[in-house]
Amino acid sequence: MAVDSCLFCRIVAGEVPAERVATGDGVLAFRDIEPRAPVHVLVVPERHVASVHELDDGASGLLADCFALCRQVAEQEGIADGYRVTTNVGERGGQSVAHLHFHVLGGRQLGHIDS
Ligand code: 5GP
Repeated sequence: MAVDSCLFCRIVAGEVPAERVATGDGVLAFRDIEPRAPVHVLVVPERHVASVHELDDGASGLLADCFALCRQVAEQEGIADGYRVTTNVGERGGQSVAHLHFHVLGGRQLGHIDS
């Protein structure tokens, strides 16, 4: 997918509105438009990467920055005592937006991961 037509690249660029909750080093957190939990925030790298499957061997810094922002979001949102971080890969894995993102979910009792 071309970067200029990627929804999350457009959110990063400020071309599509989103409720931003935090920023980090090259990473952005904003609320999911269709929340599946009282807290449902998406953490995305600013640079376009389709999914974790497309990450190269040098991506450890990017991943560390993403997870640091997930932790910050959990603290800010008051869910640090229990939350979930997930990422989907490919359509068959439930991914609907082809720009790497981590769902940060919490604020209610979470069950086991769906099959
Ligand atoms: P995926 O299904 O790819 O794992 O997650 C994509 C997420 O992006 C979904 O939870 C969906 O609700 C969210 N989403 C889709 N379009 C928009 C949008 O325009 N703005 C925001 N904030 N979230 C969106």
